[in-house]
Amino acid sequence: MIPYGRQEITQEDVDAVVEVLRSDFLTQGPAVPRFEQIVAEACDARHALAVNSATSALHIACLALDLGAGDWLWTTPVSFVASSNCGLYCGASVDFVDIDPRTYNLCPEALARKLEQAAREGKLPKVVVAVHLSGQPCDMKAIHALGQRYGFRIVEDASHAIGSRYLDEPVGNCRYSDITVFSFHPVKIVTTAEGGMALTNDVVLAERMALLRSHGITREPSRMTHAPDGPWYYQQIALGFNYRMTELQAALGISQMSRLTAYVGRRHEIARRYDSLLADMPVVTPWQHADTYSGLHLYVIRLRRDLIDVSHREVFESLRKQGIGVNLHYIPIYRQPHYAAMGFRPEDFPEAERYYAEAISLPMYPGLDDAMQDRVIAALRKALQE
Ligand SMILES: *Cc1c(COP(=O)(O)O)cnc(C)c1O
Repeated sequence: MIPYGRQEITQEDVDAVVEVLRSDFLTQGPAVPRFEQIVAEACDARHALAVNSATSALHIACLALDLGAGDWLWTTPVSFVASSNCGLYCGASVDFVDIDPRTYNLCPEALARKLEQAAREGKLPKVVVAVHLSGQPCDMKAIHALGQRYGFRIVEDASHAIGSRYLDEPVGNCRYSDITVFSFHPVKIVTTAEGGMALTNDVVLAERMALLRSHGITREPSRMTHAPDGPWYYQQIALGFNYRMTELQAALGISQMSRLTAYVGRRHEIARRYDSLLADMPVVTPWQHADTYSGLHLYVIRLRRDLIDVSHREVFESLRKQGIGVNLHYIPIYRQPHYAAMGFRPEDFPEAERYYAEAISLPMYPGLDDAMQDRVIAALRKALQE
């Protein structure tokens, strides 16, 4: 089976992890801050906090922004459930904004319309999570302008987008957001097995997230309610979690980051080759906005159902049967039973529904060679003609 995504682990990666295994610190040592510094520098952000997953990063990002009961978090329905679950973790309510038919990202016009109505009803969101689907950055300038106008805060879920650029600047610099989150799950662009990171330029948000990732405990006397009782002393001043990243994960991340540019470059080569191999087929290939340089975590095609006799599901099943591990990113979140029970109606999200009926993620990862890619195309050709 050719999977839709997979990690690449080199001898250097293995050596870096083994070195940590034989060192004094398996957690809370020097590798995590080094990894944070490397990512912060690559992304032009002031602060970076490594955690054990992007899900954890989204959770502490929302808490740092004071999201809580009675508040609303809005995001796109076409994302992984973590993009909205973070709102529910905080006791907030969640709502969705339909997608743009070309980028498949949250549509700024739909957002503007929904905000206008929410303002009338007094139900404006406190946080909007902008997800850079496939690695293509959202229209952040437009979302940021709406944030200024309606007073919401912005979290970029850039789980797909480390190495992406927006208006010639790296995603992660938080120019148009409060916090940006990356995932280092093995299918993503750079991996630490499990892992995530939250970036921000705001020192207050950075300090809050640092506290929340480790039980809400501080050893900083200036943050305590009274002078330390002694050298052993620490205080828990908030309710935090154990969301820490280990030294082994950070060492793997440091080693992987040295290949970030090469990885994204290779993904672009694969995408260009897909674009040309698919040119005469009844599918829509990914459209790239001129303002963006995608990290290309995913390569999503859409079936031209008006031109083919087979169903989306049949194409999918045929590809899987032929050993091509295609996937669908994503089932619109409002369709998940946990969310459907909140009363969402699919007809409120026509673009997300159309997307869900047509989208297929083809295999995309640096180790996908030309022969494998040719197998994917041959299998797709067969699937479309069956
Ligand atoms: C993978 C992913 C997440 C969750 O990442 P984890 O590191 O597995 O917690 C969140 N949002 C999006 C868009 C993702 O693709």
